[in-house]
Amino acid sequence: MELWYTEKQTPTYGITAKIKETYVSEQTEFQKLDMIETEEFGTMLVLDGMVMTTDKDEFVYHEMVAHPVLYTHPNAKKVLVVGGGDGGVIREILKHPSVEKAVLVDIDGKVIEYSKKYLPNIACGLDDPRVEVIVNDGFMHIHDHKNEYDVVMVDSTEPVGPAVNLFTRGFYQGIYDSLKEDGIFVAQTDNPWFTPDLISSVNRDVKEVFPIVRVFWANVPTYPSGLWTFTMGSKKYDPLEVDESSIPEIDTKYYSPRLHKAAFVLPKFVEDLVK
Ligand code: SAM
Repeated sequence: MELWYTEKQTPTYGITAKIKETYVSEQTEFQKLDMIETEEFGTMLVLDGMVMTTDKDEFVYHEMVAHPVLYTHPNAKKVLVVGGGDGGVIREILKHPSVEKAVLVDIDGKVIEYSKKYLPNIACGLDDPRVEVIVNDGFMHIHDHKNEYDVVMVDSTEPVGPAVNLFTRGFYQGIYDSLKEDGIFVAQTDNPWFTPDLISSVNRDVKEVFPIVRVFWANVPTYPSGLWTFTMGSKKYDPLEVDESSIPEIDTKYYSPRLHKAAFVLPKFVEDLVK
């Protein structure tokens, strides 16, 4: 008997993956958590039926959340990750020697617990001495920490369930207030094929708060449509003004000094969403 996991990315379209084994299937306080072993993508974390990360393609998303923004800010020392309980963004942040402290705030401790157990290559940085892990609502944390962070990264689930507040203008204002006077933030902002309105509304809201707003993209095969966007809001530094020759070649498999600015070149139908 074959067992397949299907993610309905829209009510009428989805992807399906053949399962070798189910490690966890549990309703946590906040969401349905599944940890499964798939033939094609290895171990896969699924929350509320949506692929969060997989052993095979995780590097794309985690590198692209962490490195464009950390090579735009000239000297980030204190960084906040909202969400990101699988630890992948934290692992990438730790590749930056300027970072003295990385704070991770995820609302669901079970994601952290099971990621450490079943996704050790992704969660490996969570026990680093530079990392502080807090189980809390990122929306609350942001509003309790003013003028504190050089960089904020929002690695949340989709704007449903516990993450619904993390795509609002009020949250972006809260991020602005939690950043230092030259701070930058980046958030995953979904895909232009199935959620174009979200990309446009986030862009509009972030532009009302930040003077510099840039959108970039990456190919994440297990995310809806595979074309994934990220939105950066900055108080002072522009990612397009970075001198690529100042970006070192570090241990990555997707991001590179050559890709830094290229990632901000959008297909025309995506440009039209953020004009
Ligand atoms: N890369 C994935 C994506 O783009 O959808 C996100 C992965 S990460 C595991 C998403 C995390 O966001 C989950 O662990 C979830 O618990 C967390 N999360 C959702 N709402 C949150 C909130 N309000 N505060 C903090 N963390 C939240």
